Amino acid sequence: MSVYLSIVVPLYNEEDSIEILLSNILKAGVNFDFEYEIILIDDGSTDNTWELIERLKEATPELKAIKLRQNCGQTAAMVAGFDHASGEIIVTMDGDLQNDPSDIPLLLEKIKEGYDIVSGWRKNRKDNFLRVFLSKIANNIISITTGVKLHDYGCSLKAYRAECIKTLNAYGEMHRFFPALASMTGARITEIPVMHHPRTYGKSKYGLNRIFKVFSDIFAMNLIIRFSSSALKGFALLALPFLLFFILFGILSSVAIIYDWTQGKANLFMIAAFLNLMALIHLIILGILGELIVSMSDLTHTQLPEITKKTIFSINDKEHNKDHTSATYITIID
Ligand code: UDP
Ligand code: MG
Repeated sequence: MSVYLSIVVPLYNEEDSIEILLSNILKAGVNFDFEYEIILIDDGSTDNTWELIERLKEATPELKAIKLRQNCGQTAAMVAGFDHASGEIIVTMDGDLQNDPSDIPLLLEKIKEGYDIVSGWRKNRKDNFLRVFLSKIANNIISITTGVKLHDYGCSLKAYRAECIKTLNAYGEMHRFFPALASMTGARITEIPVMHHPRTYGKSKYGLNRIFKVFSDIFAMNLIIRFSSSALKGFALLALPFLLFFILFGILSSVAIIYDWTQGKANLFMIAAFLNLMALIHLIILGILGELIVSMSDLTHTQLPEITKKTIFSINDKEHNKDHTSATYITIID
């Protein structure tokens, strides 16, 4: 039987959690009526995480283990897991026992309903007030700006159809934004409430500096989602205010010359118009360069994965329906 589910868990200095984590996953796995694999990625831990994984692997045939040479970050560790996952479905979760593998069947049910991505929502979150509050703000901004409305982007417990996640070009700390990124491909996304436990062992790998990273990532994400296929449009939008000011100061300097206002005023308006024109030209040139770069880039990760495509032949087109090879068809996203 081929593997249906791959459970991907990045680990960075989680020696105290690993054994319980694995036994929790195996406990949940007892009820699975399909083949599954567990992929543990040691993200350059400096404690005994890897030694423990190696020991556990001997007794656990479901376990695949990957060791990264150095600490590359949660996103890179997850991507390493995706690269080695052979399941049709990939579930990601944290390795610090904050997520609960007994929620996995609920995520899979939603996938069976036809969703491509199911995101966990830590409705009853067990983190400190400040973190929960800041993450609420971030979740609202991400939902509004990307158009993919989720309560909890930061929850690692998520299920993906493999083709939706493997094709994404993920780098930096983008793991939080996988659903928003995947929305470019037309992926169907939903969320369900999941359990959340307080961290009992080790400590969080992120401090308050995460706030700046998350907010700069929100900006980057919107650039990628909105303008990666139309760079010129983005720069043209940025150039719009400069165009308006150029027109305004152009008119004012003409009026100043025609109606003989003081030379100082006329010069000031002319310089303002000129500066705005320069900014306008620069932005348009950047837009053209951006457009050229995009035209040479590999954008396969933004294309619709086969799974979300359903091809139906036009019912009225009887003539064409006889010969499917030349049939005209319409493509719908279900
Ligand atoms: N993690 C990782 N590499 C890192 C940071 C974190 O693999 O550079 C793992 C970590 O071991 C845990 C998961 O990512 O399994 C989530 O990290 P953490 O619990 O510190 O994040 P928080 O729950 O505080 O958001
Ligand atoms: Mg955690």
